[in-house]
Amino acid sequence: MARYSGAVCRFCRRENQKLFLKGDRCFTEKCSFERRGYPPGQHGQGRIKFSEFGLQLREKQKVRRMYGLLEKQFRLLFEKADRMRGLTGENFLKLLESRLDNLVFRAGFANSRSEARIYVRHGHFLVNGNRVNIPSYLLKKGDVISVREASQNTTQIKAAVEASKRREIPQWIDVSPSELKATVRDLPARDDITSPIEERLIVELYSK
Ligand code: SF4
Repeated sequence: MARYSGAVCRFCRRENQKLFLKGDRCFTEKCSFERRGYPPGQHGQGRIKFSEFGLQLREKQKVRRMYGLLEKQFRLLFEKADRMRGLTGENFLKLLESRLDNLVFRAGFANSRSEARIYVRHGHFLVNGNRVNIPSYLLKKGDVISVREASQNTTQIKAAVEASKRREIPQWIDVSPSELKATVRDLPARDDITSPIEERLIVELYSK
């Protein structure tokens, strides 16, 4: 299945919250959600009442779009979380956060997860000194990601690092912007993931 390449701002409007899919633009007045904070489409400004299933579906779509995953990838990761010990919902969020593309974005080396995915695919990043070009690669506590030497002068990565000073870097990642290096101090606990997510609804949806 092909990855969606159309306008992504409509996703924020559909989910009624900012998903921060367009990097720096999301923090400016050009943000579509700031200008038209209602769902897209002819009936977007009408009242929408969701059923229980509708709420679960919207939450799943929101998180899937936030992390930029296809349905199949998202489902497979959920199944992996379900096989782990502990709470499935929390495990699932932890797995989503430990993806390499997410870490590259969280550490401030890319303006968005979609941008991070492109950089990883193009081989700009190393994990523990080895080149890894798989965006879904799952990192562990203590792993170090860095920009490979030949890519350290890439204008877009430098600009992203500069822009990242305007947003908060999670405490579970140690970032050295001058060395273009980040260490996973520990995988995030539930309280460390501040994005507004109700994982319970996703668990309920997939448990049907
Ligand atoms: Fe969402 Fe960013 Fe577009 Fe605003 S600019 S609607 S936050 S993707």
